[in-house]
Formats: sequence, structure tokens, C-alpha cells
Amino acid sequence: AKANGRNCLKVFDPEDPQHGDESENIAAILRIALEQRLVSLVYQPIRNVQTGALDGAEALMRMKMPDGTSIMPGTFIPVAERTGAIIELGRWAIRTVCKEMLATNKVKVASVNVSPSELKMPGFSTYVAATLAEYGLVGTRLAFEITEGVELDVDTDVVRCISELKRLGVQIWLDDFGTGFAGLSWLRMIEFDTVKIDRSFLHDCETERGRRMMRDIISLLRHRGLRILVEGVETAEQGTLMHRYGIDQIQGYHVGRPEPARRFGNLGWLPSPA
Ligand code: C2E
Ligand code: CA
Ligand code: CA
Ligand code: CA
Repeated sequence: AKANGRNCLKVFDPEDPQHGDESENIAAILRIALEQRLVSLVYQPIRNVQTGALDGAEALMRMKMPDGTSIMPGTFIPVAERTGAIIELGRWAIRTVCKEMLATNKVKVASVNVSPSELKMPGFSTYVAATLAEYGLVGTRLAFEITEGVELDVDTDVVRCISELKRLGVQIWLDDFGTGFAGLSWLRMIEFDTVKIDRSFLHDCETERGRRMMRDIISLLRHRGLRILVEGVETAEQGTLMHRYGIDQIQGYHVGRPEPARRFGNLGWLPSPA
């Protein structure tokens, strides 16, 4: 085994993915999966509640195994984060979204989930700028979703990276709002364009107490001038309630399931003539 400073201090634990050879293997598998096109993106539509229009789509990663079964991101993203493979996967995702959704005008805006380690990596915004330029895209058509569900130390590196992205016009969205503790303090530090309220709030809306909570959250976000999206809308009733609450955008199985880019051909967005 290759001994590096950190691992050689540890007692051997075959279950520990941090362990030298193991994490190198997994990183290698993820790299091969990328090369062999076993990784793909599906896109979940985002609907404008007030107009009913398709406002955009969120990219979600899938990984196909040679036997045809799929591995969901909840399983491989944490591994990719631990091994550092997330950097390569993340860059691939940004490039693919620009190519198959934005340059083809299938949607006006597409969002990509980013992990904290990507934002801390020097050169992230440079890569984004180069990729936008390569496809002749304005930054405003791309959004990054930052989840408050995982630990992110919003240090000067992160703040600098985000302001560089904002200078490109790229949108920054807060994902899974209400699931962590960071959300409210992040609202002070980061200038978000959209806040995505986690789908757990929809379940809470089944009680009067929960609905009052939802109205309070909405008014707080409104006062800060943020666009509000509610995730996980599964029924027409929930859609109607969100319309009544003045929510800007919804996403969920009621609007549409994640689909490959080619399925967006017909309901696609077309730029208005200049
Ligand atoms: P997320 O960003 O919160 O994405 C929403 C998840 O909820 C997706 O699961 C989506 O398929 C699912 N979903 C959408 N609508 C509904 C609904 O109406 N009801 C229910 N029950 N579920 C719904 P998925 O695709 O398995 O992704 C899981 C998580 O993996 C994502 O959560 C995101 O945090 C992460 N992820 C996905 N793709 C990427 C990626 O390219 N990069 C990074 N860093 N993370 C990713
Ligand atoms: Ca997301
Ligand atoms: Ca989410
Ligand atoms: Ca979520």
C-alpha cells in the first residue's frame, strides 16, 4: 500500500473508504466510468407557478453499471467527494449541461449541483468562464446549487469563488433550505438568486402549524428579495397551494420526472428573436 502521511497513522480498516488503495480504486473506477460514458445527466423541469412556463431544469447525475443497472447520486457522490473524483465529475457535468441543454436552447436556465470541495478548488470560476465562452453562452443561463445539507465552511476562498461566478453573471441558488443550520447565516454572507425550499416543508404543510411556518419562511425570503422555489411537489393540490402562497417556481414529480436531454426536444425553450 502507498503510505501517505494521513493514512499511515490509522489502524487498518477495510471499510474505511479513506484507506489508501481503496480510495484510489474507487477514484479510478469513477474515471473509467466517465471515459466509457457510463455517467450521464438527467434533467428535472422547473415550472414557473404564475405563468405555467418551463423556466429551466436541474441536472442530476446518474451512473450506469455495465449490467445496465443505475447507481443513484446519493450513493456515489459521497464517495466521489471523499476521493477527490468529484472535481473531474463536476467539471464534466458543467460542460455537458452547457453542451446538451444550453447551447441547444432546450431550456433558458439550467442548474448544476456543486459540492463544497469544488468551490474551494482554485480555478473553478476560470473553468466555468472558459466553458461558457466555448459554447458562446451568457453566464446568466447557468446556475449552481449549493446545499446547506452538507458541511461547508464559508471561508474567504468560497466567498471569492462565488463573487467571481457572480461577476460572470452565473446564478447561485441555495439548495435544501431548511434542512441544515447554515441557511439563515449563509443568507447574510452569500448573495443568492434563488432559494429552494426543501420538500420536507410540503409534508409540514399538511397541518395548520406547518402552513403558518411556511408563510413565515416565505415572507422572510420575500423581504430579502429572493426568488423562491419549492421542491418535491408531487400532487396538484400541493401545486395549487404553492400558487396561492405566491411561490415563484416549483419542481417535483407533479411537474415532471428527471429525463435525458433528448426528451426536452419538444417542450423546449426558444430564445426570443433579438
Ligand atoms: P437534490 O439536489 O435535492 O435533488 C433532488 C432529488 O429529489 C433528486 O434525487 C430527485 O430525483 C428527487 N426528486 C425530485 N422530485 C421529487 C419528488 O417530487 N418527490 C421525491 N420523493 N423526490 C423527488 P437524486 O437524483 O437521487 O439526487 C440526490 C442528490 O444527489 C441531489 O439532491 C443532489 O444533492 C445530489 N446530486 C445529484 N447530481 C449531482 C451532481 O451532479 N453533483 C453533485 N455534487 N451532487 C449531485
Ligand atoms: Ca439540487
Ligand atoms: Ca434539493
Ligand atoms: Ca433535497
